[in-house]
Amino acid sequence: MLNLSDEQIMLRDTVREFAQKEIEPKAAEIDVTMEFPAETLRKMGELGFLGIPFPSQYGGGDLDTVSFVLMMEEIAKACGSTTLSVAAHCSLCSAPIMMFGNEVQKRKYLPPLLSGEKFGSFCLTEPHSGSDAGALTTSATRKGNEYILNGNKMYVTNGGYAGTYIVFAKTNPAAKTKGISALIVEREYPGVVIGKKENKLGLRASDTRQITFEDCRVPAANLLGEENEAFKYAMQILDSGRIGIGAMAVGLGQAAMDKAVAYSKERKAFGQAISEFQAIRWYIADMATELHAARLMVHHAAQLKDAGKPFVKEAAMAKLFASEAAMRACNKAIQTFGGYGYIMDYPVERYWRDTKLTEIGEGTSEVQRMVISREVLKEV
Ligand SMILES: Cc1cc2nc3c(=O)[nH]c(=O)nc-3n(C[C@H](O)[C@H](O)[C@H](O)COP(=O)(O)OP(=O)(O)OC[C@H]3O[C@@H](n4cnc5c(N)ncnc54)[C@H](O)[C@@H]3O)c2cc1C
Repeated sequence: MLNLSDEQIMLRDTVREFAQKEIEPKAAEIDVTMEFPAETLRKMGELGFLGIPFPSQYGGGDLDTVSFVLMMEEIAKACGSTTLSVAAHCSLCSAPIMMFGNEVQKRKYLPPLLSGEKFGSFCLTEPHSGSDAGALTTSATRKGNEYILNGNKMYVTNGGYAGTYIVFAKTNPAAKTKGISALIVEREYPGVVIGKKENKLGLRASDTRQITFEDCRVPAANLLGEENEAFKYAMQILDSGRIGIGAMAVGLGQAAMDKAVAYSKERKAFGQAISEFQAIRWYIADMATELHAARLMVHHAAQLKDAGKPFVKEAAMAKLFASEAAMRACNKAIQTFGGYGYIMDYPVERYWRDTKLTEIGEGTSEVQRMVISREVLKEV
């Protein structure tokens, strides 16, 4: 594991250089201004980063999931907000079209998403349904060659900037989770109402919106996969997406650790660098060990996916462990910085705020534990 090919190393180094030059210098500022990094994302699209794990026939890079997680970790080291935008765009909008779309849909929707010409969103969560996604109430009623879509979606990442939305709605409410379908919705369709931009603890430059559908007419040809089958699709999309969120957590935790290590060598107390104190050394040892383990778990899940093997348990484990390890690393990094860790002149408090989302989005830590235990119980 972590036995990377020359191609993967080259990609990682290219992304690292781009992230250090183009993303990191703006990260603190856009955290304050909440400015969505549209230009950065467009450049990432032009460079092929948004198409990494997709086939070249749709404008992708023909690369694998391991390459994708390498990219995600490097971007996350530079800016959490940019990384969440990429995660939603790639894993929750482009990937579902690749996984469940027909040829016409793939040819129409993937090229502008993979090139960054359009941004993508995933609309599953609602004001009264999050972890219990099957309780969603948005409805899609078939009328002739159209679906009439009505309902409210919450926390839609990239929501205010997306051109393409994957929307989950009930097509047969009585059948509960067996009556959910997914539609590809274009921003220009009448009845798509872009709502309030959320003011968040962290990842403040990522765009998080409420999106409402008011008698929105969606062509029946935009049904993704089969009618009433989309609850399963949502679960599969999130299984894959979690690998990317795990990589994001590793990147944020690594950034916190790197800053803490550098600071510990400079900061003096009691006549010596604080890196000489055993307490600080143990923080460094714990951060390094846990982040190494988290990275191995993320890569293992990515490798299983690339090999076409089952990866549900490993993806949930990787996301659970990486997000919690990264939170511990951020805590220790702030502690290493002392008072300076608590003020916004240094980035470690931002890493802490940004990392917290990785324990919540694409399934909370509690939901990951449900998934992992369910898989383990099946095995025995
Ligand atoms: C910044 C951000 C971006 C997001 N982006 C998107 C997006 O792009 N698209 C989208 O559709 N959604 C998105 N989400 C929503 C996210 O996926 C949900 O917030 C998450 O799934 C949790 O749902 P909830 O907030 O409704 O919490 P709830 O489901 O209400 O959970 C509240 C608490 O109860 C716990 N809990 C719930 N059920 C159980 C159970 N069975 N056992 C044990 N504990 C349980 C949870 O773990 C949590 O601690 C985003 C959220 C945020 C904050």
